[in-house]
Amino acid sequence: MLGEQASQRASLEARARSILESAGYERIETPAFEATELFARGVGESTDIVRKEMFTLQDQGGRSLTLRPEGTAPVCRAYVEHGMHKRRQPVKLWYLSSFFRHERAQAGRYRQFWQVGAESIGSEDPAVDAESIALLAALLAEAGVMGLRLRLSSLGSAHARGEYRERLQAHLRANEASLSHDVRSRIELNPLRAFDSDDADTQSVMRTAPLLLEHLDADDAEHFAQVRRLLDVAGVAYEIDPTLVRGLDYYTRTVFEFTSDELGAQSGVGGGGRYDGLIERLGGSPTPGMGWAAGIERIMLAGERSRIGASSEVAAHATVLAPVELFVALDGSREELRGAAFALLSEARSAGLSAQMDLGGRSLKGQLGHADALGARYVAIVGDEQTVLKDMQGGGQQTVAANTVVHAVLRSHHAL
Ligand code: AMP
Repeated sequence: MLGEQASQRASLEARARSILESAGYERIETPAFEATELFARGVGESTDIVRKEMFTLQDQGGRSLTLRPEGTAPVCRAYVEHGMHKRRQPVKLWYLSSFFRHERAQAGRYRQFWQVGAESIGSEDPAVDAESIALLAALLAEAGVMGLRLRLSSLGSAHARGEYRERLQAHLRANEASLSHDVRSRIELNPLRAFDSDDADTQSVMRTAPLLLEHLDADDAEHFAQVRRLLDVAGVAYEIDPTLVRGLDYYTRTVFEFTSDELGAQSGVGGGGRYDGLIERLGGSPTPGMGWAAGIERIMLAGERSRIGASSEVAAHATVLAPVELFVALDGSREELRGAAFALLSEARSAGLSAQMDLGGRSLKGQLGHADALGARYVAIVGDEQTVLKDMQGGGQQTVAANTVVHAVLRSHHAL
């Protein structure tokens, strides 16, 4: 990374920090290498990363260590090791670090590269999924990434996937002669990856393959429907792609990927999903999680240079942790209310406010306690009949039309 790129990189980092810390994510930095076992177990033995792409070495004590190929397993290890389940859930963490994969280097694909990533651990609320995706959408939009597309799907939970896997394996075996060698060798180990194949004959077999999205159980289907509804209210555009399978084993339920038409063959800019079984696989108690990672070099390749470059004000603003200007609380649990609250959260963030909402299914009292602990300046309580805007410092409160909340907070902000 040289000269001009260094300043672009710095301002991209400042944008990421500003967007994620305003949304309540805290920075985490894990070591550059970890015990190989962490990735073998966490990322999965059947994945390309573990099978082919890890830089692994033995230290003087004979231990097997691996340069981190991805960030989710290390962050989850840290969550377990540091007892973060005792903190208010979900715990929201972000990182910007270098990663290492033994790959054939080409434009946009390097053996050492940088990722910005965000993980939200400890809640299975669909609003966690929607918030996480919306934040990456906001970051990529701010970075000026062009030709952006978001593909979305659900992989269901482990049990439903087991049944589907057998169905898919039967389809693959019935068409084995037409499959590429690579796909054929993975029918047992990782049949879902057949959807990713770029071999033409394999692709034609996959066109008639059964789709996991059509075999979700009722809970998983409802979870996915809620994620979609929340993305709709937040104005995040997406395409449902039932063939989207992410390369890592740990995903459950929501998966997504942003691509840019600007990038040619290496079109993936960033992606992620839910990993409800991962913490348990790493020795913690069953804990849901959701996260994503996006490639810094790819964002820079696909971004408009002028926009990434011109952001000194972001850099200055982002050096302090943003105080929470608006906390959106829910007086009730009806789904429409949650939709309205999420819409308000998105509107506040788009207007540049540091805003948060409850993602842990708390009572109204619990939510107000959370807002207080965060030092929130205002709380908007979204109810069936009305929205109340509470001034947490001045002490007053007033009933307002929901669509005037952001304006009211901004006005008081400017008056300070
Ligand atoms: P993954 O962890 O494979 O889902 O990758 C997430 C993002 O990291 C991708 O969308 C890319 O933007 C970026 N990425 C992954 N591998 C590489 C690589 N070898 N070189 C550069 N960027 C990469």
